[in-house]
Amino acid sequence: MKTPNMIDAKKRHQNKIEYTKYNIDLGNFGEGKKFFVRTYGCQMNEHDSEKIRGMLLSAGFIPCDDIMDADVIILNTCAIRENAHDKVFGFLGVLKHIKQSKDIIIGICGCMAQEEVVINEILNKYKQVDFVCGTHNLDNLLTILKEKIDTNKRQIEVLSYEGDVVENIPVLRESPYSAWVDIIYGCDKFCTYCIVPYTRGMQRSRKHEEIVNEVKELVNKGYKEVTLLGQNVNAYGKDIYDNYTLANLLSDVADTGIERLRFVTSHPWDFTDEMVDVIASRDNVMPYIHLPLQSGSNKILKLMNRRYTKEEYLKLYHQIRDKVKDSSITTDIIVGFPGETEEDFQETLDVVNECKFDGAFTFAFSPRENTPAAKMTDVVSEEIKMDRLHRLNEVVNKYSNEANQKLLNKTVKCLVTSLSEKDKNKVCGYTENMKLVNIVGDKSLIGKIVNVKITDTKSFSLDGEYVD
Ligand code: SF4
Repeated sequence: MKTPNMIDAKKRHQNKIEYTKYNIDLGNFGEGKKFFVRTYGCQMNEHDSEKIRGMLLSAGFIPCDDIMDADVIILNTCAIRENAHDKVFGFLGVLKHIKQSKDIIIGICGCMAQEEVVINEILNKYKQVDFVCGTHNLDNLLTILKEKIDTNKRQIEVLSYEGDVVENIPVLRESPYSAWVDIIYGCDKFCTYCIVPYTRGMQRSRKHEEIVNEVKELVNKGYKEVTLLGQNVNAYGKDIYDNYTLANLLSDVADTGIERLRFVTSHPWDFTDEMVDVIASRDNVMPYIHLPLQSGSNKILKLMNRRYTKEEYLKLYHQIRDKVKDSSITTDIIVGFPGETEEDFQETLDVVNECKFDGAFTFAFSPRENTPAAKMTDVVSEEIKMDRLHRLNEVVNKYSNEANQKLLNKTVKCLVTSLSEKDKNKVCGYTENMKLVNIVGDKSLIGKIVNVKITDTKSFSLDGEYVD
């Protein structure tokens, strides 16, 4: 049994990163068995779940959509907020009942698996969990699962170190049109509220040749869109190259001919002029940037260890707006961080009023155990947090609506990705600016980039009709 250790998880030994290739072949031990994977959290986790599915498929397991059909159920978890924890523990309660009537194997992967407190809780209270596999040894999933099947003993294997880079892990991608591609793992920013540098390890870039080759393969398979993924993609290359950055990578990946290229998530501190220039100059790099602000108060930004000031953020924001034609910028904002006064909150509102973001993910601060912010004493009451969140959302939604209304009666390009869940006479797609559009049209449009006339706008989506 290997359990997580948050002190080890924080250590950084620059020379220890290893680049290896996935080479696990345990035969078809999953033949005749079905699996179900439930994902919580960010796009990194969504993509990790694609790897989990790919590895299971390579061992003969078959995916299923109904949890009641599954022999193996894996929860790929998120640790970023308290409610993500609660959802996982709630679902484990449901699985306990299923397990009483059926022989199933339950596994936990993802960021929660890297947290000491969580694993201790699982060991003591959630006996229905059969195995836990951490983020750093996800490539060892099949070995852990087979050991559980062969020995019928609980398996806990979580490593707490800076992590390695493992190439060629089998992937079962969800979409045949739009793909995620990892470019950097982990994070070294240590924002004081964030658990990611502990659960995902040190920032580790993939070699650029591997990334470009992966995208070339996707282009050959007919993929239209690629999103380059990382907790902080703007730090790409800093750990392994002297002179090759995200700007170079964007340019090289754009050269593969992929029709749409995106990247997420950006830390303003690492965003360079060269990156802005590449986004502005390449037609297939989409003009959509998610640029987390977190707070508009310099005092709070410092307490958060964000490494930029409000003025620096605004300078970058306007630089992007000025240079990148028809750009959309969205953001993340936390309210109620310890020490945040009404004046600090007003400064956040001022920045939102200046930037008029296309959209924002807004959160009330929730302390994550073992992070510096969790030990800060000047806490904001829940009542004040909720009040500020409500006021912030009103302003954010107003600008989001305004940005959407500007598109009314315009014709935009959409990548159609699926049938609409609500109306089977419609399909869904995304504009270049990452706006969701419900389009009157049939399933023959799926997988194509088509012209769509916007006929109505809502706060979080648009309606449109296909224009031949
Ligand atoms: S940049 Fe900050 S918020 Fe983002 S993953 Fe790293 S530590 Fe967390």
